[in-house]
Amino acid sequence: MISVEQAQAHLFNLVDPLSSETVPLIHAAGRVLAKDVVAMRDQPPFAASSMDGYALKSAEVEQHAMFKVVGEAAAGHAYIGRVGPGQAVRIFTGAPVPEDTDFIVIQENTQQTGDVMTITEPPGDHDNIRPAGGDFSIGTTLSAPRILTPQDVALMASMNVPKVSVIRKPVVALISTGDELVMPGETPGPDQIIASNTFGLKAMLESKGAIARLLPIARDTVSSLRTAFAMAAGADLVITIGGASVGDHDLVGQVAGDLGMDRVFYKVAMRPGKPLMAGKLNGSAMVGLPGNPVSAMVCGYLFILPMIRAMQGLGSELQPLQQATLAADLDQNGPRQHYMRAVIENGAVTVFDNQDSSLLTVLAQANALLVRPPNDPKRAKGDLVSYLKL
Ligand code: AMP
Ligand code: MG
Repeated sequence: MISVEQAQAHLFNLVDPLSSETVPLIHAAGRVLAKDVVAMRDQPPFAASSMDGYALKSAEVEQHAMFKVVGEAAAGHAYIGRVGPGQAVRIFTGAPVPEDTDFIVIQENTQQTGDVMTITEPPGDHDNIRPAGGDFSIGTTLSAPRILTPQDVALMASMNVPKVSVIRKPVVALISTGDELVMPGETPGPDQIIASNTFGLKAMLESKGAIARLLPIARDTVSSLRTAFAMAAGADLVITIGGASVGDHDLVGQVAGDLGMDRVFYKVAMRPGKPLMAGKLNGSAMVGLPGNPVSAMVCGYLFILPMIRAMQGLGSELQPLQQATLAADLDQNGPRQHYMRAVIENGAVTVFDNQDSSLLTVLAQANALLVRPPNDPKRAKGDLVSYLKL
């Protein structure tokens, strides 16, 4: 059995960054930027008023001074012309600041009668002008790789970038295996249950920008598994769930092997999730996840999401562990690294009493996995421990 860290290192070796594609800006959010985006313009492209008011010369600004209003500048409508001494231009937010002027008196500090404007209140010393290029200028760079946020999309729009180069979405084929499984919505027989893992994993994967293809449930027969693998062809990553243990009906390893899988490991010293296998199958990465629902989901967080990030060109950094104090004593850990379902509240971590790897209700309540290294000794309430945020 290998350690979790060794398994993660092997899994990173099974995948490479994917190629890029061009998408319209409106479809860019959540995608991973593949190439730097460089601004080809300044924003704002001209000095612009940040307020509604009057544009004039700063040297002439003082309370009680009077000006002749000689024109108007609005957003999208510049004032073309000169502004002489004692003159002002009515101006609105976003309008170019007229030539000859370098100060905006806000309208709240003025009064206008006919074409005469008086500064009635202390005008302050803020010029209320956004300088040209004050937000960004030609050459300002949004660097790749990065997961594009709504803010990034707004910025690229402002840069007049209508299309972006992003990493192709990793395609993941998800295969549930088991005679006992039916799909949600179907009527299970008396000895059947509903397949849950593929749905949880699909949600997990798609929340991180992958495409998850849910394949029909494979039965515990060689021919059904072979069919499922054939249907998975072309995916960047093929994931099977269940059938990877040592039971008589656990055929995934055998069938994958017959199909030419180059296995890099089988079994990881962890709880939950020991019967994990991985390798390369017909050019795709292949991971066999354990069938127990909590094991499958925990392995998804620990192993599959990091592979997705690597395929997205985001490198091989793992989600960092965080620290919290224990809310109650913990017994010594066994020889496998234990990922205990837990709740973090106000900096304290409480593990659930029942850590059975089939309990999705417990996982659904958990917001963290307390990480206990192999053979971790007894821990007392108040001890600092590490956890992974879910
Ligand atoms: P296995 O590894 O195939 O022996 O499965 C271990 C346990 O997980 C069994 O109780 C299975 O019924 C259950 N299981 C396997 N696959 C799934 C699935 N896709 N959804 C829910 N439970 C599953
Ligand atoms: Mg099974």
